[in-house]
Amino acid sequence: MQFASVQETARPQRKNDFMQSRRHQLQCRISRTLWAALETEQSRTGDSIAHIVERALANELDLKHHSLFQVSTSSALVEGVFDGCICVQDLKRHGDFGLGTFEGLDGEMVMLDGVCYQICAGGVAHEVADSTFVPFATITRFIADQRFAVEQAGSLNELLSQIDHQRPSDNLFAAFRVDGIFERISLRAACKAEPGEKLVDAIEHQSQYVAESETGTLVGFWAPSYATSIGVPGYHFHFINAERNLGGHVFDLRAKKLQVGMHIETDIHLAIPETQQFMAADLAADTSAALDRAEKNSQRE
Ligand SMILES: [Zn+2]
Repeated sequence: MQFASVQETARPQRKNDFMQSRRHQLQCRISRTLWAALETEQSRTGDSIAHIVERALANELDLKHHSLFQVSTSSALVEGVFDGCICVQDLKRHGDFGLGTFEGLDGEMVMLDGVCYQICAGGVAHEVADSTFVPFATITRFIADQRFAVEQAGSLNELLSQIDHQRPSDNLFAAFRVDGIFERISLRAACKAEPGEKLVDAIEHQSQYVAESETGTLVGFWAPSYATSIGVPGYHFHFINAERNLGGHVFDLRAKKLQVGMHIETDIHLAIPETQQFMAADLAADTSAALDRAEKNSQRE
């Protein structure tokens, strides 16, 4: 008689009660043959039983876990199209993991394990209601295709170069979940934009701060350079700590004992806003330089 159990394990002990309420435990009896096959798969891949079961269930139940759900475009964001076009409840239908911002550029968004957090000035994070509106987001159903460890990263660039080695291609979208200890992390939270403000002007009054000795998770994506006007090309990471009360858009970090999960995306669903603001926006310009400034200006502090 064997039991397969699916539960969150890569979590600090003190968060267990909180996390248990957000993850489900599965107990079922399976045949000896299936169990042997699971063990073979576990030693072949190095993945946990929980991870293999979760991936197999997602495949069997036809959850589209290799689809990226992109709300609006990065060029619209640069042009100041900050009116919300989708609510958090609808986002959750398309995944449990992602990042973005809120109506009016009101803070940074992190979605992790199906919970959506808003991060405001100073990095203060809280869960948001499903009715909250969002103008821009990148969401997926995250199940790692591959996992690897990074013992030390002296900077964000050092971490990214380690991730580069594992990424199969520059031309595929990918999502990354990085759990570990962040000795120092430099963050920002966008603050509500004035009416008519564009992204580069709005981030002039962003909130920048540094956190130290935080256990937590990076939620991030790689977007290919051909996706310049849709996503944020290159890497884009947001952070949330284990207590889920501090986070932000990541500029730089020093971290250790990192567990990285990589999830490759093979198709993309672009949700085009039907707001007046989006429909009237001039999206012809090449916004890549402005986007780069807004997302990475302090990356090498
Ligand atoms: Zn961001």
